[in-house]
Amino acid sequence: MTLKESGVIDLLNKEFSSVYLDRSAGKNREEVEEIMRKAFVSDTFLTSSNAITENGELYNVDGNGNRVSAMIYGPRQVIVVAGINKIVKDLDEARERVEKIAAPKNTVRLEKNTPCAKTGKCEHCHSDDRICCSYVALAQQRVPDRIKVIIVNESLGY
Ligand code: SF4
Repeated sequence: MTLKESGVIDLLNKEFSSVYLDRSAGKNREEVEEIMRKAFVSDTFLTSSNAITENGELYNVDGNGNRVSAMIYGPRQVIVVAGINKIVKDLDEARERVEKIAAPKNTVRLEKNTPCAKTGKCEHCHSDDRICCSYVALAQQRVPDRIKVIIVNESLGY
């Protein structure tokens, strides 16, 4: 949502369509999976983060796990674009942010049949539609300059 709202996706589709892989372009689950796998050997992986702590940790919760996997290893560089609304004090606040904001909003957007889509907060479900499967805090990057974080001074995504 951040990349969409900030205009990055439109720019990539317009100016870099020959090299940009957009999983939303997949016509079926098989094609989407193929695009997600190709991302692991890409030069640049673009994403946002569910939360960024004041200490610099990137905290993300994934359903498929493709996003957090690519952030951890694979793409030569990872560019994280995040609005100031993603900044939190620490990992406790990061978890809270995901449970009260990011995940419930995403389940509504994705039309998932989960309790949070109805109540607006995490109910720690085990439903088949659960989007919270992998909880990852990136605390350090061994490869210098591999992960670049661009913080935009406005509210973007959720
Ligand atoms: S664990 Fe279930 S209820 Fe909690 S945020 Fe994730 S999908 Fe929603």
